[in-house]
Order: sequence, then C-alpha cells, then structure tokens
Amino acid sequence: MTNPNEMISSEFTGAAFGAYQTNHALNVLLNSMREIVLYFDRWGVIRHANARAYEWRKDGQLIGKTFVEIAPCWDDPAERQREIMQVYRTRRPQLESRERALEECGDCWFRVDKIPTTDECGKVDGVMVVISDITQSVRRELAIKESEARYRAYIANSPDAIWRYDICPPINTRLPIEQQVDLILKRAVLAECNEKLVRLYGVGSASHLIGLPIYHNGSPNLSADITDFVQNRYRLEDREYEHLDSSGQVMSLQSSAIGIVENGFLTRVWGTTRNITDKCRYLARMEYLANHDVLTGLPNRSVLYRTMNKALKERGDEQKMALLLIDLDRFKEINDTLGHLAGDKVLKQLGQRLQSMLNETKGLVVRLGGDEFAIFLPNLRNAQQAAILAHKILDSISLVFEVEGLRTEICASIGVAICPDQAQDVSAMMRFADVAMYRAKTCLQGVAVYDSAFDPHSPKRLELMGALGRSIRENQLILHFQPKIQLSSNKVYGFEALLRWNHPELGFIPPNDFIPIAEHSNLIYPMTLWVLENGIRHCKQWLQQGFHISMAMNLSARNLLDDRIALDLKRLLREYEVPGHLVELEITESTIMSDPSRAEAALARIHRLGVKLSVDDFGTGYSSLAYLKRLPVQTLKIDSSFVRSMLNDEQDEIIVNSTINLAHNLGLRVVAEGVESSAIYQKLVDLGCDEAQGFYMGRPLPAPEAERWLKESIWGLCET
Ligand code: C2E
Ligand code: MG
Ligand code: MG
Repeated sequence: MTNPNEMISSEFTGAAFGAYQTNHALNVLLNSMREIVLYFDRWGVIRHANARAYEWRKDGQLIGKTFVEIAPCWDDPAERQREIMQVYRTRRPQLESRERALEECGDCWFRVDKIPTTDECGKVDGVMVVISDITQSVRRELAIKESEARYRAYIANSPDAIWRYDICPPINTRLPIEQQVDLILKRAVLAECNEKLVRLYGVGSASHLIGLPIYHNGSPNLSADITDFVQNRYRLEDREYEHLDSSGQVMSLQSSAIGIVENGFLTRVWGTTRNITDKCRYLARMEYLANHDVLTGLPNRSVLYRTMNKALKERGDEQKMALLLIDLDRFKEINDTLGHLAGDKVLKQLGQRLQSMLNETKGLVVRLGGDEFAIFLPNLRNAQQAAILAHKILDSISLVFEVEGLRTEICASIGVAICPDQAQDVSAMMRFADVAMYRAKTCLQGVAVYDSAFDPHSPKRLELMGALGRSIRENQLILHFQPKIQLSSNKVYGFEALLRWNHPELGFIPPNDFIPIAEHSNLIYPMTLWVLENGIRHCKQWLQQGFHISMAMNLSARNLLDDRIALDLKRLLREYEVPGHLVELEITESTIMSDPSRAEAALARIHRLGVKLSVDDFGTGYSSLAYLKRLPVQTLKIDSSFVRSMLNDEQDEIIVNSTINLAHNLGLRVVAEGVESSAIYQKLVDLGCDEAQGFYMGRPLPAPEAERWLKESIWGLCET
C-alpha cells in the first residue's frame, strides 16, 4: 500500500512547494483534512494527493495521472480537466463549483475549489484542487425541494381549500380560554391560501383574501368554533356550517383546522375547507327517498314505524292512539281500464285528500305501497274519534276523481286499531288494523274497528267461543241493573239490564269481550232471548211489588236484522203480562247504520208492540240526527266518552249541548250515559238534558241489590 506521507516527500516536486517539502507539519495538516486535496502541475498531471484522496480512490495510484484518469465517473471529466488547465492559464481561481459523479453508490456531489499556486517568484506553477463531499447536504436539499414541490402541487391540486392563518403576535396558550378566543379573533390574519379558497369565496385572486382577519371568513358560529378549537387542544375536525356564496346561494362547508404551538405560543393555524353542498344535497335527497314514497310524496312505512314506536314509548297513561289502515277497493280495475298513469294520478290526488283530512287533527299520513295507505293518530279524545275520522275519510275517498278529463269513483275499506285498548306495540297495532281492514272489506262495512271477536287468530276468541255455548245452558249468565234517573224530578224511572258472564275458571268477563264473539256465532240469538226473558221477568216482578219502572235492554246488530225478534218480544210481553211501554230496546247507532233500510223495517215492527226504542252510544257512529228522526226512536243516549270529559273538554261540552238542543228540536229525549259526579249531573240539568245514567247515581247491581237500592235509595221512584 502506498503511504501518502512518503509520497509527499518523494514526489512533491513543485518548486514553490519545495520550501515546504520537508515540512512535516504541512503533511499532517493536509492529511488531517476532510477534503480531498489534489495538486496538479502545469501539465495537468497530479503531483500530490492527500490521505483523503487515496481513501476516496480506494488507495489506487494517483500520482502522474490526470483528472480524466482518476475520475472517469465524474460528469464530463474532460471538461473538468480543461477547467483545471484554464485556472492555470488564467491564474484565476474557480471556487465552489458544484460537480456530480456517478459513483457505485449512486449520485455523489462535490464542491470543488480550483486554486492556482505560485512559486516564490509569483509565477503560477500548478493548481490545487480541493474537493469537499457534499453528497449528504445536496441530497437533503434535493429532498426538501422535492417535498416542497410535492406540497405545492398538493395544495394547488387539492379538492379542498387549504389556508393558513398567522397569529401576530403569537398567543400564550396558558391564558384563560375566553381570552385566547378573543385574541385569536383579533390577531388571526389569513397568510396563505390556495386557488380553491379563492373560488369558494368567489373573489378574483388570493390577494383579495390574504391579509383579511379571521372574522371575515363568514362562519356564523365563529366564536363558538374557536372556543371548541382552543378547548380541543387547538384542533377542529369536520366542523359543518352554512355560508352564503357571492350570489346569495346557501353553501354547506366543512372545515378542519390544526394550530401550531411553539414554546407555549399559538403561532399559526393550518386548515382545510371543503364544499360539501352537493354531498349534503345528495344526502338530503337520499334521506328523503328513504323516507318517502316517490309517487305521492307522502312518508313511507319506515317513517310510520319509527313515529309509532316513539309515540307508543312516550305515551301518557290517559293518551289514546289509533292506526287506520286504508285499502282501496277494486283499484286494479282503475289501472286496467284507465291505465297505470291514470292510476298513479288517482293515488297522488288521494294522498293530497288524505293529507288535507288531517288539517285539524294531529296525525301522520303514509303510503304503505300499492293502494294501501295508513294514518296514525297519536292523540285521540276517545276511541270513537278514530272511527268518525275513518268515516269522514271514506266520504272523502268516494268523491269523484278527475283524471285526464275522465271522472272515476273509488271505494275503500278502513281498519282501525286503538291503543291502549287493543294493542300496545307497533306490530300488534299493524296486525290488528289489518285484521279490522280485512273485516271491513269482506263485510263491505267500509270501516271496522278491531275486535278480537273477528280476529281468527285471537286465542282469547277461540277459548271464549267454546265456553259461551255452555254459559247459557249452565246458567253462568246474570243480569245487572243500572238505574236511570229523570233529571227534571231527580227520580228513578227505569233500569238498564246489562249482561254479565261469570265464568267458573276465567272469572268475571266484561260484556264487551264476549258479546262481539256471540254476535259472530249463532249464540247471539239465544243469548239475547235469555236477556229479554229475564229482563221482562224482573220488570214484572218489580211491577208486582208496586215499582212501576221501565226495563231497557240492549240489542245487537244481528238481533235487529233477525225477523224473529219482534215475534219473540210479542210472545214474552204477553207471557209476562208486561205493557210494551215499560220495555225499551237500546240499539247502537252503528247497528242502525250497517243496513239502514232493514233496520228501519225491524224498528217499525218493534215499535208497533208499543216498545220504546233508543239509540245507544250516540255520537260514536256516523248517523245524522235528521236521518234518525225518520226512525221510530224516541230517545238518544249520548255516549259516555263525551259526557265523562265534558267539564274538562270544551269540544265535548259543545257536542253534548248541541246534541241535546238538536234532539229536542226533533222531538227526541236525551239520556246522558257515564255520569260520574254531581258536577256533571248538575251541568246536565243546566243544559236541559232529560235523563241520566251513571256511577254517580248507581252502578249496575245484581237483581236483589238493585231491588234493595230501589227501596232504600234517596232517588225516589218517578210518578207515572
Ligand atoms: P251500554 O249499553 O252503553 O251500557 C253502558 C255501559 O256503561 C255499561 O258497561 C255500564 O256499566 C257502563 N257505565 C254506566 N255508568 C257508567 C259510569 O258512570 N262510568 C263508566 N265508566 N261506565 C259506566 P257494561 O256493562 O260493561 O256494558 C258494556 C256494553 O256491553 C254496553 O254498553 C252494551 O253495549 C253491551 N251490552 C251489555 N249487556 C248487553 C246485552 O245484554 N246485549 C247486548 N247486545 N249488549 C250488551
Ligand atoms: Mg245500553
Ligand atoms: Mg251506551
């Protein structure tokens, strides 16, 4: 191996350098340098190289060679050699030239000084070339340039607006939050932004924005946002807000920001802003489509379920709700004859009609699909209100639809389920309303309120059906008697016989649970006959004891339409020798309305026996007073749901009052049912009501107790 020190002493022959030839100190100095030092003679041949040069060339031979020979991998080595000769000739040094070589390890960079050397006479005798390896710093510099370029390209091409606010002077992050917010508002100034922000704000160029204080950015909740930013350690993520663009259009923007804190001071804030207007519109549209029926614009099934679920969960103890399922009858015919486009138009118009029905009543109209609609009523005064609305809806549906110059009519069937009376959760409400709707359709009833009696899947119904037949044979039925009071005299004038079933295992079963079942089987006739016979028997019994009181009994729809009833009634009156005028039959309004012409004929037959007739549960059906006047009825019994709440509910009071007045004008007497307090009793007296019945005066009692009540009560007997 060549010893660089030896080489210096043996080969360093330049005259100027001669004086130092033996200068050991200079050798040490040159060899200790980190730079490569090469000394070229006037012929451009290396005469000296330091230790670093040998290290660089891996101890190869250097002395006597040209630059071209030792550095072939240098960029254009011949040119470099020429430069060395030029320095020699011109005597002018060439300093800090940056030169590149393609070494095995990749690109290497050097800073090269080419300095002419002179002898003691001042004559140039060679060129000293000092080479520093600057590969590392050049690579760093290139990397920085690269990342800078990448960053510029990213900012310029970003789909988001990118911006920087400088805080001048920086804000101490130990200050109280409100103070920091205040200072940010005062000191933050836009220092940098990309083209996107320029376009977002609709200005000509970035220069219109740079320098603007932060409060110019148009965010409506700037203070609150900055407070969140400070509280959240100088970060804000995906904050959404609305902004008016230059043309006054609302834009939805989303911003994120991050603060730079140096030495405990907030110096600047970098952030991005994205225009999410299209995304918001798209999401709003998607949400709309997910929740609405496109044809009618009405909410759809999932909205109904959600609304019902929420309302049922939050329902107050007294709150009643109803679900109406509406299904058009023979809608297919419209589609088939007028075409699907016309069918769609009918559905659209129907949607509007249904919606307008709810102007006064709070509720939700939805289209379930096809020709099925539903209405959810979350706040009912009483169960009857739902049935009344269902009838009104039916009327509105049956009005003519005009489609492309053609007039068409449609009918519908509506099923009603009531919460909490019948069902308390969404699926039960849906099922029950569906059962009722099917019932309305098959019986051509128009409207049907759910009843377990016509629900073929109700386990209760099946059980009761079996037991009901036995109940008559085994004497499980009894009658309870509730007094009716004449308001003008405050005296009893009669009883209403109310049926009770005392089941040996199930215990007491209310009439509303078993009578509908009897009505849908052949048991209703023998059951009613049993009531009529026992009612008339008790009437006779009390008549014999000197109590001249009337006996009211209830007839169900099927009884009224049964031709046998008038005949059996005639037979019983004769058999027990009870005058017809002491017997009164109560028929519900809906019974009469289910088949008005047959009801009219049946009522006439009963009337001819001298028996009185009254319309029960008046107000819950759908009859007009004027129509009832054509029938041979003498009395209206206002339904207890109106009477019970008439002191708290102004509308109910109006209904009671106007019913009394209209009935009187038509020559009918009025009985108020459900009188539970003296206040209601007094109010009815004031309104001029004729008679009253209710727990306040007397509850329904078994015959012996009713008899004792008759003898001992403060309410004496009416003079007849
Ligand atoms: P309805 O004919 O309207 O009878 C009045 C109902 O109201 C009775 O209920 C009675 O107990 C109740 N009531 C009377 N006063 C008050 C009061 O002040 N407050 C309250 N909350 N309720 C009062 P019930 O006995 O449970 O009968 C219910 C329904 O069952 C009757 O209503 C009637 O429609 C039917 N029903 C009862 N017995 C017979 C019958 O023999 N044949 C037929 N077809 N139906 C009957
Ligand atoms: Mg009754
Ligand atoms: Mg009633």
